[in-house]
Amino acid sequence: RYPLPKNKDLGIERLVKILDETPNPAKAKQWSRYYTSGAHVAGKNYSQAVWTKEKWESYGIKSEIVEYEVLLNYPVGHRLALVERGVTADTIENDATAESGKEKQKDDKVLFEASLEEDEVPGNEFSQSKDRLPTFHGYSANGTVTAEFVYGGYCDFDAFKELDELKVPIKGNIVLCRYGLIFRGLKVLGAQDRGAVGVIIFTDPADDYPDGWSGGGSGDGKPYPEGSGRQPSSVQRGSVQFLSLRPGDPTTPGYASKPGVPRSDEHAAIPSIPSLPISYLDAAPILKALNGWGYQPKGWKKGGLVDRGVDYWTGPVGYEPEVIRGVEVLKPTRTGNAKPTKTLLHFENIVEYTLTPIWDVIGIINGSISDEIVVIGNHRDAWNAGAGDPVSGSAAVMELSRTFGEMLKKDWKPLRTIILASWDGEEYGLVGSTEWVEEHRAFLMQNAVAYLNLDIATSGPWLDAASAPLLYKVFTDAMKAIKDPLADSKRDLIHKGESVRPVVAAMKPVIPGSDGINVYQDHDRDHNKETYKGSIYEIWSKDGGIIRPIGSGSDFVGFQDIALVPSSDFSFRQGASGAVYHYHSNYDSFDWMEKFGDPGFKYHLTAAKLIGHMVLSLTETPVIPFSLTDYANFLAKHLKQAIEFFDKTTQAIAASSLTTEVHSDIIKGIYRSRESLTRLGEQIAKLKTATVQFDEEALALSEEISGLDPDIPWYRWWQSLHYWARVKDLNNKIQFFERKFIYEDGLDGREGFKHVVFAPGLWTGYSGAVFPGILESVEAKNWTNVERWSEIIQKCVIDAARSIELN
Ligand code: GLU
Ligand code: CA
Ligand code: ZN
Ligand code: ZN
Repeated sequence: RYPLPKNKDLGIERLVKILDETPNPAKAKQWSRYYTSGAHVAGKNYSQAVWTKEKWESYGIKSEIVEYEVLLNYPVGHRLALVERGVTADTIENDATAESGKEKQKDDKVLFEASLEEDEVPGNEFSQSKDRLPTFHGYSANGTVTAEFVYGGYCDFDAFKELDELKVPIKGNIVLCRYGLIFRGLKVLGAQDRGAVGVIIFTDPADDYPDGWSGGGSGDGKPYPEGSGRQPSSVQRGSVQFLSLRPGDPTTPGYASKPGVPRSDEHAAIPSIPSLPISYLDAAPILKALNGWGYQPKGWKKGGLVDRGVDYWTGPVGYEPEVIRGVEVLKPTRTGNAKPTKTLLHFENIVEYTLTPIWDVIGIINGSISDEIVVIGNHRDAWNAGAGDPVSGSAAVMELSRTFGEMLKKDWKPLRTIILASWDGEEYGLVGSTEWVEEHRAFLMQNAVAYLNLDIATSGPWLDAASAPLLYKVFTDAMKAIKDPLADSKRDLIHKGESVRPVVAAMKPVIPGSDGINVYQDHDRDHNKETYKGSIYEIWSKDGGIIRPIGSGSDFVGFQDIALVPSSDFSFRQGASGAVYHYHSNYDSFDWMEKFGDPGFKYHLTAAKLIGHMVLSLTETPVIPFSLTDYANFLAKHLKQAIEFFDKTTQAIAASSLTTEVHSDIIKGIYRSRESLTRLGEQIAKLKTATVQFDEEALALSEEISGLDPDIPWYRWWQSLHYWARVKDLNNKIQFFERKFIYEDGLDGREGFKHVVFAPGLWTGYSGAVFPGILESVEAKNWTNVERWSEIIQKCVIDAARSIELN
């Protein structure tokens, strides 16, 4: 069934040589300059879509602009003020509502008016541009409220649980959250679920590296632009969509947002309460007002505003809890407070919701094989200049496209087909990519081999990589093939214990992929075991090595979780001593990138080469170079972890007495579901045996092909039906292996997610959950459902094993 590959005298070595030689820092800089020079928020970047299309076409890549019509919001106005309200008999009852708030506003004394503006700084063109987008949250709700307020720490699952236990009043109040640990929209969801009327999310300076979860980097102490530290007025914009429930346009769940399609007005995946991001400068006086009220929960990480007088109390102001649960509460001494007052937050978030066109650009390089497709994607929309996010990725993909152009000039026709995508609307909730996947889901499931995502290609030099296990081998091989531009200086840093931190929690500490001669540096690491003792290298595990499971937060989600196309994503990030990355702020600018993020645009090129290398091995290797064994190992490892979690959760229950009938029913349920997990383990072990055999067979065939007479170009061998038939037979199995893990009904409560192995963490968002069905059911202590999911997954595993049986 394979068509004859068209002649090219380019073997993979020559292609790799072109890939090594073509990307050029001056060009990357030029693309970065272009993309950062004008506003390009979703739905307002048509000229950049046209430019991208024209550039690709100039490289010989057939391209088109694909339009969707989606719901977005744009900022109109905002206000945040700390006010003091004199309390009189007639206002005491009903003053925390929007209506009465408005009326009383005149009488409220403003204690502090937040600026909500990022400073204009010299050299940073965008911060001065009239095009700059005010601070706001994508998909935030409209609203004006005046209410009491509380501090909720990171506002993650555990923090809210703690607030619930402590009975800190959230209902009717505004919650202040600190950025970090989890996706911001899920902070809003947690607050909304508890009846909060608004959410303010601030950047805490302690969350910059080395201790935290922001953009990473500690900087040199001097704030940008004088130095590489955090600019105090910087604000992290961003979407507050509930992305772990569903990505894409909230009005068209599960289908493409073409003009004229029916729209749902339920909008279950976006907030119904207003929210706003603020700087730490604006946050400090507000947090300070809470000092001495409520609690200082013990486990909460101290913030970095202590020297600004913030003691990080939960509040609300005036709340002196009765229950003190092992927490030392310092009773504030109130003197001269004869007249009772109330300290409130007045908060206005005015946004305009509108159905608007967005534009994906799709390019295609037809390969000899049309039904095996590798997709490369990067988003184009940015909150503001976005030099790191996503322009570093867009510039890298543009350099890769130019490199493809050079190959095409030499009459290259890839073996497999390549699709290039420049997505719009990522920042609001992966909108452009999700709509495209929804439109072409059947086609992708039938034809796609892999999806390679590149979002923030670089904000520093340390690699953070995530992928589906099938891609581990291709990924690490590519890392090994790519030279690291900062090899020598990095090795010094590593010896000092430098590491990169993940921007999200709930994943293992992330791991620099790079310490030396190449990006992976396997060889050197093995030879320097002693040197690396105690460093982050010790945590590298064998299966998967330096690659973490894929979660959410960028455009791979539609591919991986909706169409079950094995996907990858990577980013070169800041390390401990690097510059602070002003993620989603005005200072993610060309100027910052050139001075601090990637001087010389070296990692822009490294990213282009890394992804280029993956593309070449995926398109030019006769047998698709996936390791199925890596997949089986991954399943085994994560089932073991799931079972440990199950056992830990159930031990307490099982240990308690079995006196009541209800109790024994529970024990039966636990027992049955545990049995079923054991059976799942057995099936995974069988799958493992099958994958090992299969991979051996695939390797043998690959070697047989590459061992053919080197003087005869490899493609000639494709003329032999003998090889064709065998290769296609194996590739059919390899290509559809990931698709066996589908459950069309979707995960509980989030039916859009169809993968039984991977999903965004329900309460983390960015970091992935493995076996989400099982984990969430254990969490909910729903044993019948644990058993149900275990059976569903077993079917998939059996199906996967059957699908790779060798003839
Ligand atoms: N990458 C964007 C962010 O982290 C969008 C993520 C999403 O909505 O899934 O804000
Ligand atoms: Ca849709
Ligand atoms: Zn991005
Ligand atoms: Zn972003």
